[in-house]
Amino acid sequence: VFAGIAQAPEDPILGVTVAFNKDPSPVKVNLGVGAYRTEEGKPLVLNVVRCAEQMLINDPSRYKEYLPITGLAEFNKLSAKLIFGADSPAIQENRVVTVQCLSGTGSLRVGGEFLAKHYHEHTIYIPTPTWGNHPKIFTLAGLTARTYRYYDPATRGLDFNGLVEDLSSAPLGSIVLLHACAHNPTGVDPTVDQWEKIRQLMRSKSLLPFFDSAYQGFASGSLDKDAQPVRMFVADGGELLMAQSYAKNMGLYGERVGALSIVCGSADVAVRVESQLKLVIRPMYSSPPLHGPSVVATILRDSEMFNEWTVELKAMADRIISMRQQLFDALKSRGGSVWLV
Ligand code: PMP
Repeated sequence: VFAGIAQAPEDPILGVTVAFNKDPSPVKVNLGVGAYRTEEGKPLVLNVVRCAEQMLINDPSRYKEYLPITGLAEFNKLSAKLIFGADSPAIQENRVVTVQCLSGTGSLRVGGEFLAKHYHEHTIYIPTPTWGNHPKIFTLAGLTARTYRYYDPATRGLDFNGLVEDLSSAPLGSIVLLHACAHNPTGVDPTVDQWEKIRQLMRSKSLLPFFDSAYQGFASGSLDKDAQPVRMFVADGGELLMAQSYAKNMGLYGERVGALSIVCGSADVAVRVESQLKLVIRPMYSSPPLHGPSVVATILRDSEMFNEWTVELKAMADRIISMRQQLFDALKSRGGSVWLV
């Protein structure tokens, strides 16, 4: 019955890894999936993650029971605090609902389906360019993806005027996908001033922000600094969605650990939103995995482990910056101009 099925193409990003694994060259470099590698080209498990896992293994009171549909409650609380700030008014006013999801991708998908079901406007504006999975995630979730200008190849910087023009002409209430920091694939982020202008424009047109935070801590090396644009949008009292991933900043790629937060207008609304998120999640995968969020919660709840994480995170961020610089210099020294895209 499946004889007529056509061969599907490889995923454009994951397909690079397939080609990389097949390539017998001894000097190959994988420029596909953005997973951190050590000086020896090996994957890295953070020391603080190893310690947390050891603590979990040694704890006899731990079982393998199902988590609730919304995931590990402590992990959800700590994740909201990490991105919105410990003193966030929205958290204090119980206006934030957070559900554990399958890493960043799963958080975007659950958020997309929630909006398709419960939000009056189904158009989501995504930047050009953006992470290749964004348009597919949102389209399959039931939204319509449109684009706004973001990168200007001429200046190799932000096309701020293009961005403002496109968001100004978006229909009232449209959803706008924003990379919280370390925009993928350009690495170009708005300045704080530009973020403030984007915020004012979006709020004046009731555009709903959907933040994708896959690299908190990687852009500047500081978790708080990288969260600043998001916190500016929370501080004005408005609503937003936030998809968080611990794949990169805790190196938990394959554990698929992330969170979707929705900042609501009131505590009462947040309770109802959570009840509807459960209806999205239950028929999709019932409940999320246990190990990843247990590791994250173990680290985030303990100030010493948290500090150790920030040191290891900064070391990864610094090495990425230095590797980029070395690549740039090496290409330049071989002549010609270097175009980083
Ligand atoms: N958003 C962006 C911008 C990304 O670059 C990635 C990973 N490459 C993700 C989301 C999702 O990653 P994951 O599902 O592994 O957390």
